[in-house]
Amino acid sequence: MTDLNLDPAQLDRYSRHVIMDDVGPEGQRDLLDAAVLVIGAGGLGSPAIQYLAAAGVGRIGIADDDAVERSNLQRQVIHGDADVGRPKVDSATEFVAQLNPDVDVETHETRVTSENIDALLAEYDLVVDGSDNFRTRYLVNDACTLAGVPFTHGAVFQFEGQITTFSGDDAAPCYRCLFPEAPPAGTVPDCETTGVLGVLPGTVGCLQATEAVKLLLGRGDPLEGRLVVYDAMDMSFETVEFEKNPDCPVCGDEPAIASVADVEYAERCAIER
Ligand SMILES: [Zn+2]
Repeated sequence: MTDLNLDPAQLDRYSRHVIMDDVGPEGQRDLLDAAVLVIGAGGLGSPAIQYLAAAGVGRIGIADDDAVERSNLQRQVIHGDADVGRPKVDSATEFVAQLNPDVDVETHETRVTSENIDALLAEYDLVVDGSDNFRTRYLVNDACTLAGVPFTHGAVFQFEGQITTFSGDDAAPCYRCLFPEAPPAGTVPDCETTGVLGVLPGTVGCLQATEAVKLLLGRGDPLEGRLVVYDAMDMSFETVEFEKNPDCPVCGDEPAIASVADVEYAERCAIER
């Protein structure tokens, strides 16, 4: 045993972290002791899982109920051709085991719903939202905001990506402060109908992993109250600042949402009346 119980193999594996003042053996220990839930093992979840595992995040939960399809492989880089038809949680687990034996993977082969999300969150320090639909996105926002669990949000559309982070701080704005309700069903097309540049979710998922690692280390400034809009076509990153909305239904002064059971997540993620 050496400093902070990093064994010789770990000191070697994480040496480029350990030598940095802003990480060091203490920071690496924090990562090894951390538990992160990645929702969705798809385009965003793949690079996030890849880099969180490489960084030595000790426990990674993966929630996904899909099987690998051949059309996923253009961007979902932790799954291989031989995995087509298998549950994504299985190929993701094998990928992580092969990359870093320090990481324990917990699989949740289920759709994340208002019935199971609170129990899931209770097991983790932080959430990477790699979901591909508004229903899950609003559910993750509401449940994490109510429980004070930090999460980082990412979304992709054709050549454009968005990232923002909620640190779990009461004073911080949430995703609903920015977008109070989901757009009506059918008005915003998804990747399946409009396509997405394969490398785009790689960039966005890596930015989410960066945010997660920063939060776990307690270093730097998270993208709190800031939405980064990445346009791959002209290679621009724009940062849009936003504030806590006192009328926000989940984190405002008089919130209408006290529990995820108050919301109908089927379509516009509006409050049930
Ligand atoms: Zn809010």
